[in-house]
Amino acid sequence: MMRRSGVTANAAKKAPKRPFRFSPKTREKITAVANLAARYYLDNGRDFPWRHERDGFRLAVAEILLQKTRAESVVSVYTRIIEVYPDAIALAGADPREIEELLRPLGLSRKRSIQLVGMAGGVVRLGFDVFDDWQKMLEHLPGIGAYGARAIACFGRGQKIGIVDANVARILRRVFRIANGDVRAPIYQRYADAIGVAGPDARATNFGLLDVGAGVCTPVPHCGSCPLEPQCPRFGTKALAGLTRGSF
Ligand code: SF4
Repeated sequence: MMRRSGVTANAAKKAPKRPFRFSPKTREKITAVANLAARYYLDNGRDFPWRHERDGFRLAVAEILLQKTRAESVVSVYTRIIEVYPDAIALAGADPREIEELLRPLGLSRKRSIQLVGMAGGVVRLGFDVFDDWQKMLEHLPGIGAYGARAIACFGRGQKIGIVDANVARILRRVFRIANGDVRAPIYQRYADAIGVAGPDARATNFGLLDVGAGVCTPVPHCGSCPLEPQCPRFGTKALAGLTRGSF
């Protein structure tokens, strides 16, 4: 008897975790959100030069520049860098001090210029296929974090994956009533990935979510003009009244 209970305990320890599954109702909602976000992007999306790109290297330049900066202020610097260094070979051979000069309007540090040159060097070494695999990018390309690697894989290669920044996490939290307030919690990536898979065009869906997060579902949300309102239980509820600028 004792032995049997020991075996049972060991078996329980080794039992593989059941894969996370959404209920059919949640899956339906995930699909609806993916479609509404994509539609919003196609009708109202912000236009940035990197959004027309499929070239992994150029998207990587944009992702490095976009960290902790406003997208609108990155446009002229990004355009200039791509003019002077149109491909990875050109940027890999650059002197970081020259890049630093180009980054000056954004107030970016020398570290960012070293990351740009290092990223280009990584692409030259590993080949352009590195952009097929977001985990490989994360491992080998300096300055590219998990968010950037996933964004490049989606925007450059059309991979159906989700990307989560603080703005997107805020939308997910409100629309799907996620209780965990930690933006790094895996639950956010799970929802974002499911949304990326659910829509017909993950690029448009992710661009749409980024734009809703940046301009509509802000800390104090503009629910009256929100494309996701039909799917959001927060709309018109008292819960919104309690949100302040500091709210996640
Ligand atoms: S309806 Fe309001 S709370 Fe819901 S996603 Fe839109 S802006 Fe955010």
